[in-house]
Amino acid sequence: MEDNFKTRLAEVRQRIADAAQRSGRNAGDVTLVAVTKYVDAATTRELFNAGATVLGENRPQVLEEKARQLSDLDIEWHMIGNLQRNKVKRTLAHATLIHALDRDSLIDAVAKEAAAQDKTVRCLLEVNVSGEESKHGFSADEVASAIERIVALPSIRLEGLMCMAGLAGDENDARGEFALLREIRDAHSDVQTDNVALRELSMGMSGDFEIAIEEGATIVRVGSALYR
Ligand SMILES: *Cc1c(COP(=O)(O)O)cnc(C)c1O
Repeated sequence: MEDNFKTRLAEVRQRIADAAQRSGRNAGDVTLVAVTKYVDAATTRELFNAGATVLGENRPQVLEEKARQLSDLDIEWHMIGNLQRNKVKRTLAHATLIHALDRDSLIDAVAKEAAAQDKTVRCLLEVNVSGEESKHGFSADEVASAIERIVALPSIRLEGLMCMAGLAGDENDARGEFALLREIRDAHSDVQTDNVALRELSMGMSGDFEIAIEEGATIVRVGSALYR
C-alpha cells in the first residue's frame, strides 16, 4: 500500500505542479490536503509514511480518534467538514486549520473555545458560491459582515475562504464558482488587521482540483484520487 500511495501522491503532485504552472505559480504555492475520511487509522499511517503530512478529516470524532492513534506522527490535521458547536472543543484540541466556518454562531463558538484553550486558531470562511440550497456557507453578500465579526475576535486568525463546487454543475460551472471565490477574496483583501488577512483559497477536490488551481486555489483537498 505504501508504495502504491507514493505513486498516487507523485501523480497528484505532478498534476498540481502542472496546473500551478498554467496559472503562473509554483507547485510550492499550493498545499495538498490529503483527505483520509475513506480509510482507517492504519491506512492513514501508510499514507503519511508515503509522504502526505497535511491530512484532512470531515468528522470531528474521527479526527480526534486518528489524532490520538497517530500521535507519534508529525501530522498537520485540518478539519475540512462542517462543525457542530458541541464538537468545537475536541476539534480545536487537534486541528491546525478549520476550513469551514459557515455561520455566525459557529464563529462565536470557535472564538470562545479558542480563548478558553488560550490559543489562536487558524480558520477559513466557507462561502456558498453555487447558491445551492443544500450547500453550507455564507453568501457572497454576507462575507463582509462575517469578516467584521471576526476582526473583533482575536482568538480566530482568519486566513482566507473555502468553497465546495456545486453538485449539479459541469466543469464550466465549477470554474465560474472557483473564480467567484477568488473575486470575493480579492474584494476583501483590503481588510488587514492583527487577526484577519485573506490569502488562502481552499477549493478543488479530486474531480476538479486542477481547475481550482488554475483559478487561484492555494489549498486543494484531495481524497479519492489517492485511493484508486
Ligand atoms: C471528501 C471531501 C473532500 C475530498 O473529496 P474527493 O472527491 O474524494 O477528493 C474534499 N473536501 C471536503 C469538504 C470533503 O468532505
